[in-house]
Amino acid sequence: MYYKAKKSLGQNFLKSEKALADMVRAGDVQKGDAVLEIGPGKGALTEKILRTGAKVIAVEKDRELLPILEEKFQKEVKNGQLTLVEADILEFDPTNYFLLSTNYKVIANIPYYITGAIIRKFLGIEKQPKTMVLLVQKEVAERIVARNGKESLLSLSVKLYGTPKYIDKVAARYFSPAPKVDSAIIAITDISRKKLANIDEKAFFELLHAGFGHKRKVMLKNIEPWAEKNIQLPVIFEKIGISIKARAEDVELAKWIEIFRKIKDTRV
Ligand code: SAM
Repeated sequence: MYYKAKKSLGQNFLKSEKALADMVRAGDVQKGDAVLEIGPGKGALTEKILRTGAKVIAVEKDRELLPILEEKFQKEVKNGQLTLVEADILEFDPTNYFLLSTNYKVIANIPYYITGAIIRKFLGIEKQPKTMVLLVQKEVAERIVARNGKESLLSLSVKLYGTPKYIDKVAARYFSPAPKVDSAIIAITDISRKKLANIDEKAFFELLHAGFGHKRKVMLKNIEPWAEKNIQLPVIFEKIGISIKARAEDVELAKWIEIFRKIKDTRV
């Protein structure tokens, strides 16, 4: 059936067998696993995931793709291995699906226009997946793992919940139509809230946002308005072993957590 890809929905269909196989491998997808796929498109990745024996819920926004998927996966839909859902992933509620009440995995070649929103949603929701394997723009994948040694709000947010790993580059020519930039597979494993024990999630993000607030300012100056007036930030920085001249991008997650705890302890 002829189908014209929709730019507005970030439709770049993956045609590299290797990249598809790498994604399934990176997610260590096994028989019996529960997988949520975002944007199945014409089903190239769905097919590979189903072949492992995993159960899949695939959420597709484009109504026109649903009949194509239904036809391609008639057998799997009938025997319950695959559930196709027509929905916007940003409005999708995993708690409505029994399969996703277990340790599910998100495996997806995502539409790039909502990369940030998807990552924020699935790391921040109550019922987080255990693992996420995403095909994203290469530059975003590099930023998430801080490949150049520079942290960002994105890298620290991801590391707060899980362990990101850069798997491999996927050149633009392996997509149809080819996007303007190259992509890369990224895996985020061990997703949980364990690093947030006794930490107010919302307040911690306020600290991160404050720290990265003004690019030209050092971190200490940036977080001054967030901390209270009576708090001796230089003393705290020295105790933790961070230079008062450090920039937010040079400070690793464990240190941000220490700063947060120290400031909280100092407050009465
Ligand atoms: N998985 C297919 C593949 O690998 O070839 C397609 C990937 S394509 C990059 C992104 C897919 O996400 C498209 O099928 C698109 O229609 C779908 N999509 C776009 N926005 C969406 C949204 N908000 N919710 C769910 N699916 C969406």
